[in-house]
Amino acid sequence: MPLYPKISLHPFSYGWLSSETRGILGFAIDGVPFVRLDYFQQVRTVFAIDSCNGIVSDSQSYFYVGYPRCIQDLSSNSGHSPLVGFLLDGLPAYGPNDVDGVVASSLQGPYKLDECGGHMDSIHRFYHYHIDSTSQINCLRGCL
Ligand SMILES: [Zn+2]
Repeated sequence: MPLYPKISLHPFSYGWLSSETRGILGFAIDGVPFVRLDYFQQVRTVFAIDSCNGIVSDSQSYFYVGYPRCIQDLSSNSGHSPLVGFLLDGLPAYGPNDVDGVVASSLQGPYKLDECGGHMDSIHRFYHYHIDSTSQINCLRGCL
């Protein structure tokens, strides 16, 4: 994970990335890896998603498949969701809500999330991802 992230001209697709990293997208601030549930269900036996948005795989490892509810309770959050982790390109990942508590994945116009699931918004003038309950990060915008 780069200490000084740089934006890439060509995003890294999740398909390529998942074969290189065994599905890991990055890490939450508590050190638990983020994965995409759809990928994990193809390669591993996945047990029920717990109340933290985590799963235990058949290798007895623990992963988040969405924003980590047990780190940050976002139910009362009316503003931009807090930082929940960093993806492998070193860029920060926040919970599902954008400025004023609007669900980031529903944004339109200049702040609409790009194909990777990230953007810059009116407060955070740097590229960042938004992770919702299903962690649908489609690509990584930064250099690896
Ligand atoms: Zn944002």
